[in-house]
Amino acid sequence: MQQASQATVILGGGFAGLFTALHLSQRNYSHPIILIEQRDRFSFKPLLYELLSGELHSAQVYPRYNELLASSSVTFVQDTVKSIHLEQSQVTVASGRIFNYRNLVLALGSKTTYFNTPGAAEYAMPFTSGEQAIALRKHLRHRLHQAIQTSDPARRRLLLTVAIIGAGPAGIELACTLADLLPIWYDELGGDAAEIRVVLINRNKEILKGDVNSHLRCTAQRALKGRIIPVDFLFDAAVSKIQADGVEYQQNNKTQILQAGTIAWTAGTAANPLLMNLPVANNRGRLLVTPTLQLPDFPEVFAAGDCAADSDQPQPPTAQVAYQQGIAIAQNIQRQREGKSPIPVEIKMRGTLMKLGLNEGVANLFNKVQIPGQPGHLIREATYLQLLPNAAHNRKITTEWLTDELFQRHRPASYMQLGQTPWLPGVATLAAGVIFATPLVWRAAQPMQFQQNLHWTGVPTLLNQLAPPAR
Ligand SMILES: Cc1cc2nc3c(=O)[nH]c(=O)nc-3n(C[C@H](O)[C@H](O)[C@H](O)COP(=O)(O)OP(=O)(O)OC[C@H]3O[C@@H](n4cnc5c(N)ncnc54)[C@H](O)[C@@H]3O)c2cc1C
Repeated sequence: MQQASQATVILGGGFAGLFTALHLSQRNYSHPIILIEQRDRFSFKPLLYELLSGELHSAQVYPRYNELLASSSVTFVQDTVKSIHLEQSQVTVASGRIFNYRNLVLALGSKTTYFNTPGAAEYAMPFTSGEQAIALRKHLRHRLHQAIQTSDPARRRLLLTVAIIGAGPAGIELACTLADLLPIWYDELGGDAAEIRVVLINRNKEILKGDVNSHLRCTAQRALKGRIIPVDFLFDAAVSKIQADGVEYQQNNKTQILQAGTIAWTAGTAANPLLMNLPVANNRGRLLVTPTLQLPDFPEVFAAGDCAADSDQPQPPTAQVAYQQGIAIAQNIQRQREGKSPIPVEIKMRGTLMKLGLNEGVANLFNKVQIPGQPGHLIREATYLQLLPNAAHNRKITTEWLTDELFQRHRPASYMQLGQTPWLPGVATLAAGVIFATPLVWRAAQPMQFQQNLHWTGVPTLLNQLAPPAR
């Protein structure tokens, strides 16, 4: 424990925690860095749809921490944090180990909430981690296999209906992905794809209400209707109960039931309960931090990502914010150890990206320009692949992605594309891929990408645009 008292202990290996750990390590930080995370793999959440569909594979978007951290000085501890004692500078984990720290980083994210809806925890499938994406894929495959063997039309309709609860970005992206993917999978089994139904259920009349993507509403609505199987809407519908084979909801003062063989839940997040027991202020479950991301009464403790909020400059709970905060915390911890004052964190929001089907997306740049369709899809995937949190991993994955895109290897022949000339989309993808991926490859080829400021090269990369300037 002698050594651990100088340690920087990071709780949670999501975007905020993992990027803090890697950036500290890459800055040749001379003190022990301990990352405590309950899972053995990092979930790259914005690309979970690709993991579900098979467009990208586990090694790309659901890598093991041991591999990601192999060449770093970070000690990875797979364990669940049970209690945090700020006054004693101590953290206890489920195995009973106690970690003393000099600096602590709280990056525990949020958790799914079902708003006490009866049956939801038992029967609705959440979609927030690689594990859950793989479970949903297996479940859907199983349902399609059951459906193809069923001669009872009512039973088949139930098995082929997917209800997605929540029309925020995750619900919409999932609905768009499944409304393209399931018809292809079912067609491959010899089924009639027209029997598939994807239904988006939302409490409000509007989709993307109050979300950073709200100005993409019209584009998203068009995309939902333009899938291989158009997505059905059930709006102004308050879900009151989830059953094994359906969703009960209240609409127009009537109780109704949608029979569904798959129920996915993307409707809400709540604070991590561990953090709510801390003797510090919070705003709707997010810990209040200073502009330097420190807890006001505990300057040795930093908090970032979905579990933290600066009341003067509130940021949306997104990966884009969390990873920038991780980089900034690494800088501030190092400054603190050098006896310098931490610097207020500047987050640059350069736009948003959404997946709107297989090979379709929208890139919303600076909230001014929208690039939809396949170019939007390529910008989105290229941008996210640049963020893969390790140079070696990034380089390997980038090359794989690029060759897959160029040769359309991961792409299932879509229902609509059947009968089309195959080389046309290939040539278009090749051209777009070269244009968008040149800076990506350049960046991936830099072995110490996180230490270098590539502005001097004159090669603009999306990440350069997104990341805060080096201090
Ligand atoms: C399906 C989906 C799609 C998304 N798409 C986008 C997108 O396109 N763009 C975007 O910017 N954002 C997107 N987001 C949001 C983004 O992923 C989050 O804002 C981001 O992950 C927050 O990072 P974080 O580090 O704060 O928390 P998280 O990524 O949630 O990480 C928290 C970590 O803490 C760990 N943890 C929690 N409790 C404990 C404990 N007691 N002990 C040990 N470990 C613990 C968890 O296992 C987790 O690994 C998406 C989210 C989802 C779910």
